[in-house]
Amino acid sequence: MIAMTEDQLSEIRQHGERDYPFECCGLMLGRFERNGHKDVVEIYPISNAREEEAKRNRFLIRPEELMRGEKYARGNNLDVVGLYHSHPDDRAVPSQYDLEHAWPTYSYIVVTVEKGRATDLRSWEMEPDRTRFNEEGIMSEARA
Ligand SMILES: [Zn+2]
Repeated sequence: MIAMTEDQLSEIRQHGERDYPFECCGLMLGRFERNGHKDVVEIYPISNAREEEAKRNRFLIRPEELMRGEKYARGNNLDVVGLYHSHPDDRAVPSQYDLEHAWPTYSYIVVTVEKGRATDLRSWEMEPDRTRFNEEGIMSEARA
């Protein structure tokens, strides 16, 4: 279970719409609770302003970008609790590529961006044996 605000969810959707037709990616920063839940405190977008060729490659996040995000998180007493990325004109389900490039313990949010509009948004966790993703519940607080 991952707890997020409506504002954080729309930040991810908007990032996906902004980078359409390319994939966007970023991090969710927050805390791992003792009961296994994750609390998201901040969305950390990672720019996808890369060369055209790199943009066409399907990727999640580069290790050095993850490290930069982790450093920023630690400086703010937070942890990286998950990664998000968009699937332009594709289902909000992790691909085989995503599975091969994922790390355990993190949440993986995938947002569908259909013709430039964010639609479906789902969160996933990888099985410890790395064989597949299971869908994870998103607990979303109402806007204050
Ligand atoms: Zn993907």
